[in-house]
This record gives sequence, C-alpha cells and structure tokens, in this order.
Amino acid sequence: MTQVERQAWDVVVIGAGGAGLRAAIEAREQGMRCAVICKSLFGKAHTVMAEGGIAASMGNVNAGDNWQVHFRDTMRGGKFLNHWRMAELHAQEAPDRVWELETWGALFDRTPDGRISQRNFGGHEYPRLAHVGDRTGLELIRTLQQKIVSLQQEDKAETGDYEARLKVFQECTVTRIVKDAAGERVAGVFGYERESGRFFAIEAPAVVLATGGIGKSFKVTSNSWEYTGDGHALALLAGAPLINMEFVQFHPTGMVWPPSVKGILVTESVRGDGGVLRNSDGKRFMFDYIPDVFKEKYAQSEDEGDRWYEDPDHNRRPPELLPRDEVARAINAEVKAGRGSPHGGVFLDVSTRMPAEVITRRLPSMHHQFKELADVDITAEPMEVGPTCHYVMGGVDVDPDTAAASGVPGLFAAGEVAGGMHGSNRLGGNSLSDLLVFGRRAGLHAARYAQETAASGTRPVPDDAQLDLAAAEALRPFSAEDVEVPSAVSAGSAGSAAEQPPSPAENPYTLHQELQQTMNDLVGIIRRAGEMEDALHRLAALRVRARRAGVEGHRQFNPGWHLAIDLRNMLLVSECVARAALERTESRGGHTRDDYPEMDREWRRVNLVCRLSDPSAGLAAPTDPGRGQIRLERRETPPIRPDLLNLFEKDELVKYLTDEELTQ
Ligand code: FAD
Repeated sequence: MTQVERQAWDVVVIGAGGAGLRAAIEAREQGMRCAVICKSLFGKAHTVMAEGGIAASMGNVNAGDNWQVHFRDTMRGGKFLNHWRMAELHAQEAPDRVWELETWGALFDRTPDGRISQRNFGGHEYPRLAHVGDRTGLELIRTLQQKIVSLQQEDKAETGDYEARLKVFQECTVTRIVKDAAGERVAGVFGYERESGRFFAIEAPAVVLATGGIGKSFKVTSNSWEYTGDGHALALLAGAPLINMEFVQFHPTGMVWPPSVKGILVTESVRGDGGVLRNSDGKRFMFDYIPDVFKEKYAQSEDEGDRWYEDPDHNRRPPELLPRDEVARAINAEVKAGRGSPHGGVFLDVSTRMPAEVITRRLPSMHHQFKELADVDITAEPMEVGPTCHYVMGGVDVDPDTAAASGVPGLFAAGEVAGGMHGSNRLGGNSLSDLLVFGRRAGLHAARYAQETAASGTRPVPDDAQLDLAAAEALRPFSAEDVEVPSAVSAGSAGSAAEQPPSPAENPYTLHQELQQTMNDLVGIIRRAGEMEDALHRLAALRVRARRAGVEGHRQFNPGWHLAIDLRNMLLVSECVARAALERTESRGGHTRDDYPEMDREWRRVNLVCRLSDPSAGLAAPTDPGRGQIRLERRETPPIRPDLLNLFEKDELVKYLTDEELTQ
C-alpha cells in the first residue's frame, strides 16, 4: 500500500482555531501528549477573523449583568432550541475564560476606570462583548499561541524537546477518523500534508474535532476556504450524528460590492457602536420589523433608540440590534421590495453618527477594509451591506458537560463544529466564548478518557484495513476516469443507472461552484419546499459527478486535488442542511420558510438528527451515490430544568413552550 508515516500521541486535536487551541492547552496541562493538526498555517484559523468581541457577563459596563441574564439572552436568541445545559455552562464559565486569557497575556480594551471594556451587540441585554478594537479574534489566537509556546518551553526545559508533549502539524488535512478493528472505538486519524501530498496516520485513543463550520458550501459567505464542513463530515463518517443542521446563520451585513469581495463580513460592532440601517428612501426601516416576541424590549421610535446609547437604563435598544436572523430577513425584504442600494444591499451608516476619529479608533479594520476593497471612506459615507452566510448552528451531537460525541467512544467536538449550544440562532460574540468554554471541556475530558485507556491497558490500535481504504479514497481523483457513473447525471438527475459511454473526468472547481450556487439559491436565507426538493435532486447529481472529480499531475502542490477531496464533505453537510430544512415545517431563528412563516411551539420540542443512511458501508464507496446519504430522525429536546425556566416571565414562555410543557 501507499507509504503512510505513523506516530502515536495521547490526544489529537483537529483544528487550531480558538476551540482547538484551548482544547490542546487543557489536554497538555492534564499531562497528556497532544498533537494539533490544522489545514492552514498555524495562526490562520477562522477565529483570527473574529472582529466584534467575546461575550461574557462580567458586568464591567453595566453592573446589572450576570450569567442568568446572559443565559436568558442566549436562549431567546436561539428561540429556545438551545441545549439548556450548554447555554447554562457557557454563561457561567465565559467570564472565567476571558479573565484567564488576560492572565495569559491578552490585553482587552479598557473602561475609563481600567476594567475590561464591553460593547453592545445584537440580542445582548447589556454591553457584554469584551473586545480589542475590531480585532478580537487576532488577540485571542495570539494569546493562545503564546500560551502554547510557553508550555513548549517548559517541556524543552524538562525533556530537551520543545515538541515532546505539544506539537502542531500545520498545513495538514485530516480525511478520516480511524477506529479499531472492531469498528467501535476511535483509534486515530488519517490525513495528508498539503504541500508534499504525503500521507500520515496518528494513533490516539482520543480525538477532538475543532474544525469550524461549513460556509464554503454557499456562494456568498464570510467564511474562508477552510470551511468545507470537514469535521461535520468526519463525525458522520465515524458514526456520530449531527443535530440542528437546518439552522445556518446569514449575517445581515456582508459587503455587497465590488463583486470580488461580496460576502466579506461587516462586523456587528458597527451597529453596536451606533451605526444605523437605511433603505434607498433614507428610512431607518428596522422599526418596521420588530417581531411580536421582541416588541417590549426594543425602542419604538428613533429618538428612544438614540437615547439608549447614553441612557440604557431608561430607554430601550434600537431595532438595529435585534438578533441577526431578524435583521437579515428585514434587509432581504427591503431589497426585494425595491428599496435597496445600487448594488443590491441597504445602507449602513456610521459617518453621520460618530466623529471620524472615533470611527477609526473603534472600527479600524472596517475603515481599512472599505477603503482598500471598495474605495469607500466610512467616516464620510455609508457602506452598502447585505446578508452573507456566516455560521452554522448545527453540528456534532455532544454531551454538554464532556463534549463527547454521542455514540463514538473517544470522539469529542467543540467550537463551531459542535451543535446544540446556540439552538436555532447564535448571538454575536457567543462563538468566541463557546470556543473557550467548550474547548477547555473537550480537552479536559479527552485527556481523562486517554488516561483511562492507558490505565486500563486498553489503548485502541488503528485498523490497517481502514488506513488502506482511506489512502485509496484520497487517491481516487488521480484515476477518476476509471470510475463508472450511472447515466442521466449530466441531464441533472441521478435517477437512472443505465450504462452510458464513459464521460471525461469532472473538474472539481466547477463542481464546487455548482454546489455553492445550488445551496445559495435553493437552501439560502428564505426557503421553500419545492426549491429544497430541487436542491436535493441537484445534490444527488453532483454527488454522482463528484465520484469522477479528477485531477492531473502529482500529489505535490496540487490544489485541484485538495478541492476534489473537500467535495465529499461539502456534499454530505449540504445534504444534511437541505434535508433537515425541508423537514422542519416552521420558521425559527436561522431557518426561514416562505411556505411556513410562523414559529410553531410543537417544533421546539424536536431536534432533527442527521445520520449516515448506510453506516455499515464504512469506508467503502457508496454503491449508488445518487441515493441520499443522510437519514433524518426526530428526537425530543431535553426538558429545561425548572430553576432555569423560572428565570423567565410566564408571559414570555408562553410564546415558546407548548401548553403541556407549561403545565409540567
Ligand atoms: P476555526 O477558528 O475556524 O478553526 C478551524 C480549524 O480547523 C482551522 O485551524 C482549520 O485549518 C482546521 N481544519 C478544518 N478542517 C480540517 C481538516 N480536515 N484537517 C485539519 N484541520 C482542519 N464570533 C464571535 O463570537 N465574535 C465575533 O466577533 C466574530 N466575528 C467573526 C468574524 C468573521 C469574519 C467570521 C467568519 C466569524 C466570526 N465569528 C465571531 C465566528 C467565529 O469566529 C467562529 O465561529 C469561530 O472562530 C470558530 O472557531 P473554531 O475554533 O470552531 O474554528
């Protein structure tokens, strides 16, 4: 078989964003030898792009804040579909994780009296986002990297080797979780080095998925190239289910012009710091879009909204700060009604709201981004913005306390790849805190699990047959023309299996584009049953064609090969999103159905669970790739603990819970 380099570690963390690095630090501090693998350069994870801040109820700017208020806001933002225990742990532990970062060298912006400053963000009742200008993610990653280097220095002093207990394998892509010969426990991972194309296997009893999101399955997105849903797909293929996959967040404000930068994020801090949204008539239209469930909490006039920035205790917040799903839908509706900006967005203005000096100090990246990419000076003119695919609420079904993936011993997940925490919609700032809270927990419990296997002498060994199949799967794009494909695929349907003359290999880049366009057009911000059914047909056809995604040349420096490999993951997660979105016949959070516009309390009790339809196929290629690969199950959401329900007024709960739940 193809040469595979092998190493043995205690814990493998896939992903070097906030969740992965926090997990790795914890595993190493528990005494485990930990390997971190990342697709891009160390330090270039998605987390580094986070702009607005990290949500934690430290109460530095408004003493009224505490974890209970944060918990309430998070549940409201997720329209009560969040796993309550995750939302509770997150709200309780986020302040400690922020303090911890400062003890490791982070330096957040300060209040005048020297405390960590906190800014307003959509859906948060109080100013809650600790921040470093609009470059918070950069500071977070820089600090975690610095902590890793300091641990490596300790290891060097003790063992003579910097990488004795903590090693980063950068520019390496994992393509498979490998199990033991019984196919039960996780035993390691298989992957390739992106530059050389060399294969490697790392044996480890515990693997933490921290691979981020799926945004690259959509055409207009704030996400960068790594977000191809790898961790979601790796979990599915290893036998772990995904939940909440119908909930994809479309951030209301991405750049819309010029076309080359369409989708790049315009941080919510612009609105948090006073930016307003206007349509082509100059109207602040968000006042027309306050939904009933939020009516009492938001200003009813521009004057009240403006006064809130100075006197939040006696005024209500402006509706520009509604949760993201509400604002994205409102912008979409304005553009559709013909009141959009010249390039198909709406106007976001800070220039008339703050002095130029304040704008450049508080929003330096936004000022730079618009000047460089669109030749717009945001201190003097409004920005044009529109919705962009930003974040996936759905992910690996995990145990809230331990981050263990359900049903697969040895597999853990944290950060954007994990599901449950944010329910149907994530509040801004709640991701960075999620990464640290659950990254730490995943690292801790992965380390404990690895310790237990070592203590009991039951360390699993990767199955060689699985490694061989993983290598063969990765090599397939080099012999794509040999793959037989059922016919009728080129006509856009995967239905028939009749033989046709061999067709040439497919271009992986073209397949990526067609997939992204399909998801954008048919499973995007506003969804309809017919369109989603159409999307599922197209995905089936793409899946068949992807079997013939071919590349020329060698494994060295071959980006076309990397694209071909990513396709499997993108197709799997896209099918999850489309199937779950079709099944959920209501509108909630990030999932908006044109044909079912109301939120339905009965659906709050349901989690849609995605599993591989033929788990026994394991590593073997699907016999009929035209058939769906995902099976949906309905699962009842766990009942919310009564003391947590008591944090809400009954009048509010009535909007979300069924009569039966309220009686109980
Ligand atoms: P990432 O940081 O994306 O890390 C994923 C890692 O996995 C990377 O190292 C990647 O290389 C690696 N990886 C992926 N697949 C593989 C594979 N197959 N093999 C090996 N490695 C792999 N959230 C907030 O809370 N506040 C904000 O202000 C904020 N601003 C944002 C701004 C932008 C522009 C964007 C895009 C997001 C923002 N978010 C914000 C969301 C937040 O940044 C992300 O949800 C979060 O950073 C995800 O972190 P993570 O650790 O889960 O994954």
